[in-house]
Amino acid sequence: MEEKNSVSKELKEKLFLQRKNGYRRIDAEEEKAIFVFAEDYKRFLDIAKTEREAVIEAVKTLEANGFTEYKKGMKLNAGDKIYRNNRGKAVVAAVIGSAPIDEGVRLCAAHIDSPRLDLKQNPLYEDNELALFKTHYYGGIKKYQWTTIPMSLHGVIVKADGTSVTVNIGEDENDPVFCVTDLLPHLATEQMSRTAAKLVRGEDLNLLIGSIPFRDDEASEAVKLNIMNLLFEKYGITEDDFISSELEAVPAFKARDIGFDRSLIGGYGHDDRCCAFPALRAVVDCAEPVHTVVTVLTDKEETGSDGNTGLCSAYLKYFIADIAETLGSSGRSVLSASECLSADVNAAFDPTFPEVNEKNNAAFVNKGVCITKYTGARGKSGTSDASAEFAGRIRRLMNSKNVVWQTGELGKVDAGGGGTVAAYIANLDVDTIDMGVPVLSMHAPYEVISKLDLYMAYKAFAAFIAD
Ligand code: MN
Ligand code: MN
Repeated sequence: MEEKNSVSKELKEKLFLQRKNGYRRIDAEEEKAIFVFAEDYKRFLDIAKTEREAVIEAVKTLEANGFTEYKKGMKLNAGDKIYRNNRGKAVVAAVIGSAPIDEGVRLCAAHIDSPRLDLKQNPLYEDNELALFKTHYYGGIKKYQWTTIPMSLHGVIVKADGTSVTVNIGEDENDPVFCVTDLLPHLATEQMSRTAAKLVRGEDLNLLIGSIPFRDDEASEAVKLNIMNLLFEKYGITEDDFISSELEAVPAFKARDIGFDRSLIGGYGHDDRCCAFPALRAVVDCAEPVHTVVTVLTDKEETGSDGNTGLCSAYLKYFIADIAETLGSSGRSVLSASECLSADVNAAFDPTFPEVNEKNNAAFVNKGVCITKYTGARGKSGTSDASAEFAGRIRRLMNSKNVVWQTGELGKVDAGGGGTVAAYIANLDVDTIDMGVPVLSMHAPYEVISKLDLYMAYKAFAAFIAD
C-alpha cells in the first residue's frame, strides 16, 4: 500500500497543477525584499491619491532617474530614457532598446485613477444651516461604503483669469476632513428595507463641509457665505470658479499594515496603484533593454477608458508612432510586433464570500501575481482573450524568472464581470494579457492586498520588459 501511495504522490506532483502559498516558495532573503518594497509602495499610496498626484510623483521619480521629457522629433538612441506627460493625468515612459524598433515594444499598462466622489460643477449649497458639496461618484462603487468615513479633497480649480490653484486638504494630521453622513439605525426602518444599491443613493452622497454662519444677521445662506468667504481667503476663488474645477473627494486615511504578521496592506486605491507602482519601478530599474520598453500609467480606466487621457484615445498610439518615426519605422509596424502586460488587479478569493468564485479559477492572496487570460462578462463579452501562444510565452518567462504567479478569472461565470484596458491595447494589434495583484474589497474606500503579491507584480513586470 505504501509503495502505491508514493507512486501516486509522485505522479500527482508531476501531472497536477501545483499552486502553493507563495511564502512556501520563497527564501528568507526574498521575504525581506517583499517587506522593503511594501514600505516604498505605502509611501506612494499616501502621496498619490489621484491621477494628477500619481503623475506628479511618477514624473519626479522618472526625472530623478534620468528620464527627460520627450518632444516629437527628438533624436533617440538606444538607452535613452524619455517620458510624455499627457495633460497631467497620464504619463508614458520609455527606454529605447538596442534591438530595431520594428521588433516591437514591451508595453506595460496600468491605471492611476481610482473610484472616488467627484464634486459636481456647481457643488456648494446650504441646507438647514449646514454647508455641503454635491458629488457625482466616479467609477463603480457600493455607495453605502462611502458614508461616515473621513474624506480629503484633492484637485485643481482654474479661476476666471486662467490661473489655477491646487487643492489638497485633509491629508495632513492638522487639516480638517470632510464626510458623507448616514442615517442612524434608530430611524432607518425605511432605508434598511431598500435594496443595497439604493440604501444610499447617488444624490445622497453629499459632503459635509461646514456649519458656522457668517456674522451678519441679515444674510440668508450665511453658512454657505462663510464657507465661500473662507475659500476666497484661502484660494482666491468665487463660486463661479467651481465650473472649471476638478475636485475629487477620496478617503483621508493612510495606507497601513494589516495583520499581526503585517503581511497585508490596507489602503485607498490599490486598484490600480498596486500595479502602477511596480510598473513604474520596473521601467525605472530597467537598464539597457533589448526591446524598447514603454510603460503607460493611464487615467479614466474606471469610467471605461474614454476621453483623451484614457486608453480608448489615441495618445499611446501617437506616442509609439512618434518614436517609431524617429527611429525609422512606423507606428503600425511597431504596434503589430509589440507585446503588452495589461497591469491591472483581479479579485482575491474572500473566505467570507466564497460563493462568487469558482475555486479552481480564482486568485488567492499570497499565491502571487495573477495572470488573467480574459476578463469581460457573460459569454466573454467585452474582453481581449489572450492567445494560448502568448499565455504560454508569458508563463514560460515567469517560470524562468522564479516569479510566484497564479491564474484566476474575475468570479464565477455570470456572477458579474468587468474589464480592463487589455481590450483597447489588443485592438491596436498588440499581443496583450492581463496580469496584476489580487485585491480584497476591491473598489471599497479601504482595499486590501498582500505584500508578496505586490512584490511578485514588480518581479513579473521587470522580467517582461527585460526580455
Ligand atoms: Mn483596475
Ligand atoms: Mn477598478
